Amino acid sequence: MTSPLAAPTAQPTVARLSVHGLEVRYGEALAVAGVDLEVAAGTAVAVLGANGAGKSSLAAAIVGAVPVARGRVHIDGTDVTAWAAHRVARLGIAFVPEGRGIFPHLSVADNLRALLRAAVEPAERADALGRALSTFPVLRDRARQLAGTLSGGEQQMLALARVLAAPPRLLVADEMSLGLAPKLVDLVFESLARAKAQGVTILLVEQYVDRALELADTAVVLRQGRVDWHGPSTEAREHAVSGYLGGG
Ligand code: ATP
Repeated sequence: MTSPLAAPTAQPTVARLSVHGLEVRYGEALAVAGVDLEVAAGTAVAVLGANGAGKSSLAAAIVGAVPVARGRVHIDGTDVTAWAAHRVARLGIAFVPEGRGIFPHLSVADNLRALLRAAVEPAERADALGRALSTFPVLRDRARQLAGTLSGGEQQMLALARVLAAPPRLLVADEMSLGLAPKLVDLVFESLARAKAQGVTILLVEQYVDRALELADTAVVLRQGRVDWHGPSTEAREHAVSGYLGGG
């Protein structure tokens, strides 16, 4: 299998992410309780923590997929707090949410076209679509099938293909490898590494802690919505483990 990122694409301009005092609430519940985070342009950060620690909520708030109760999100110095998700996406920010974020009532090919319309110049779209489909032959075979009727793993491949067909400036990936067979997990991490080599800034929430830390430059361990530890990924493992054992 080849990655679509191996194909020549416009070099993305790297994006820097800054998060200050971020809070996310669901009713009375405080899921993210004042998080500060700096992700330098072209680097990868792994966001770790127990179930319920607030990882998905943090990722979703950064890209405008859930409301920010307090705090600020800046991308390259632009304050994007409270921007609608589609407006954030137009800055070249790609979000792969846990649960995939595909359009179940569109075909596989139309799902890919929908992303490419927002992310790729018209003249390059056909090539990008071809690259996405050739990376995942199963998607080519099922190009006309409704995405909602794909298997779980196939849906995850579609979510990945959507992102990789048009390398973003910042990729916010929440459990991208969830439910994938080991070979496809390898493909996810290879693709992420290649994206990083191309200068894509990455925020990664991952169940495969060791693999996430291999890719990441820095790591953040969340506990009950707060930053429990942050530092270089090479030092993160023991803190991550105590974070997981300590509960959310
Ligand atoms: P996991 O690893 O299990 O996916 P997580 O670290 O990603 O967990 P979140 O999904 O962000 O954690 O959840 C943080 C807290 O917010 C949890 O207590 C969760 O129950 C709660 N929560 C998340 N989404 C909602 C929602 N839509 N409504 C109410 N509470 C929510």
